[in-house]
Amino acid sequence: MREYKGIPILRNSRRKTIGIYLSGSGNFEIRCPVICSDQDIMRFVDSQTGWIERHRQKQVPSSEMLSFEDLKRLGDASLLEIAPRVKYFAELMQVRVRKVTFKVMKSRWGSCSSNGNISLNVLLMLTPEKIRDAIVVHELCHRIHMNHSRDFYLLWEKYFPEYRECEQWLHSHGREILSRVYE
Ligand SMILES: [Zn+2]
Repeated sequence: MREYKGIPILRNSRRKTIGIYLSGSGNFEIRCPVICSDQDIMRFVDSQTGWIERHRQKQVPSSEMLSFEDLKRLGDASLLEIAPRVKYFAELMQVRVRKVTFKVMKSRWGSCSSNGNISLNVLLMLTPEKIRDAIVVHELCHRIHMNHSRDFYLLWEKYFPEYRECEQWLHSHGREILSRVYE
């Protein structure tokens, strides 16, 4: 294994423990002893996702145009942070999801097709956790109602009672975030 979750693994004969570091160029690297099992590395990195996430978010400057690198970082962060939420809520709501795709979208936060493929905007990583959950639940509700009917909103509210607040937040801040990517 040469990298894990997109982070390169550097083995060094003088090292006794596994560590994760931010290099001078602002990229993460995993440093570990020469003899170190993939499982140990994975377990260690998985235990550090909170730390990685905090540093990833810090690296993205606010309200400036996002570079390709920034977007890639947000994509990686989405896999770590949002994908487990889709799984969690899908189980809670007992809906089946076929495939979840994270992409950069200019005008929407997510979508759900009738055959159960969900797309989520990686820019959600620039919104608070609550907003990400609200969108995840919104898209999952489309597995039951493929519209924005009253029943849809009742279902959304059932699984995410604060959805109105979140809609309001996106109404005030969403456009600014979406405008940080080039057409
Ligand atoms: Zn919708």
